[in-house]
Amino acid sequence: MSTIFGKIIRREIPADIVYEDDEVLAFKDINPVAPVHILVIPKREIVSIGTMEPTDAAVVGRCLAVCRQVAEDAGLSDFRVVTNSGAGAGQSVFHLHFHVVGGRGLSWPPG
Ligand code: AMP
Repeated sequence: MSTIFGKIIRREIPADIVYEDDEVLAFKDINPVAPVHILVIPKREIVSIGTMEPTDAAVVGRCLAVCRQVAEDAGLSDFRVVTNSGAGAGQSVFHLHFHVVGGRGLSWPPG
């Protein structure tokens, strides 16, 4: 399955990329909900946490390490990492992504 994030990985459409390695890509969200809003994705096509396989665990862990790195690079000490799994939870792009959000106060619980 190919999504808009697959097109970003293949450089078929532009994105404001802030981090890349052989397995993980991070870029600015096109519709930010906070002063810092970065998406961290595995290059491998995993749909969501809800459909990941046990063999995906290593790359998912690497994604979380990159979340920490891009938050630090953006100067954030406090931030939130969110992933929506399934349409009912707000997922609109069906390629696993972690939202790194910060730069303003964040209330809890989320909507
Ligand atoms: P979700 O609703 O959790 O699936 O999040 C999808 C996110 O992808 C949303 O925050 C969108 O603003 C973002 N998004 C969609 N298309 C692009 C794009 N071309 N470049 C950057 N972010 C995008």
